[in-house]
Amino acid sequence: MKLLEGKTGLITGAARGIGRAIAIAYAKEGANVAFTDMADDDNFKSLEKELLAFGVKAKGYISDASNFESSQKMVDDINAEFGKIDILVNNAGITRDTLLMRMTEEQWDLVIRVNLKSVFNLTKAVQKYMLKQKNGSIINMSSVVGVSGNAGQSNYSASKAGIIGFTKSIARELGSRNIRCNAIAPGFIITEMTHKLPDDIRDEWVKRIPLQRGGTPDDVANACIFLGSELSSYVSGQVLNVCGAMNT
Ligand code: NAD
Repeated sequence: MKLLEGKTGLITGAARGIGRAIAIAYAKEGANVAFTDMADDDNFKSLEKELLAFGVKAKGYISDASNFESSQKMVDDINAEFGKIDILVNNAGITRDTLLMRMTEEQWDLVIRVNLKSVFNLTKAVQKYMLKQKNGSIINMSSVVGVSGNAGQSNYSASKAGIIGFTKSIARELGSRNIRCNAIAPGFIITEMTHKLPDDIRDEWVKRIPLQRGGTPDDVANACIFLGSELSSYVSGQVLNVCGAMNT
């Protein structure tokens, strides 16, 4: 028996990186997968095909997770198309790194809107269906820097810390309806997001990791299988660090 057989997962920002690895891992474990991203590019198009090859139902939705109205409509469409949504993975996120001295209001607002408001938008949209089902697992992608802070990432760290507060609140608010809500705090994961960093900064990060390597998107996807499946049926309101012991 596959771990997610019969479940439907919705993953935001899944065209590449960690979100893509989660979508593939979910399909491998038997879940039907609805995924979102911003643009109908090659990554986006190829993912749907890749997921269908696992014999599950899969569909991509072009949608900006930071837009409240379109997120509500999209979730209604997904629920109609798939019949239910059991797992929501709020994965979409961006960085606009710079020191506070140079940070513009636009850089602050954009990161908070895309990383934090999106989590509110999607969670609010799925909750009405999860409440009726009396079942659901919500997984929010935070970051180790949401726990520890990081120079040059005050906007990003604030958004990821906000996600943790939101996660713990929703776990308390919806727990009586059998809806679980957890956050994952990845450490240094090798994706296009971290590729943007200069080599010396990347090397410096890796030196600080006790497991002596950057994480892979699959390392994070495996944690999402656990939190989306019944294996974690008594785990809620938690922050699971997937960081090679960087944050202890
Ligand atoms: P990535 O940049 O490789 O992929 C992010 C995806 O989200 C892209 O496909 C992008 O188009 C999409 N996206 C961006 N804005 C969106 C929006 N408004 N609506 C819908 N989709 C949108 O990043 P990644 O490294 O795969 O990161 C995924 C998540 O994990 C992010 O929330 C990130 O903050 C978090 N994270 C990453 C790392 C890391 O080291 N890579 C560490 C900690 C946390």
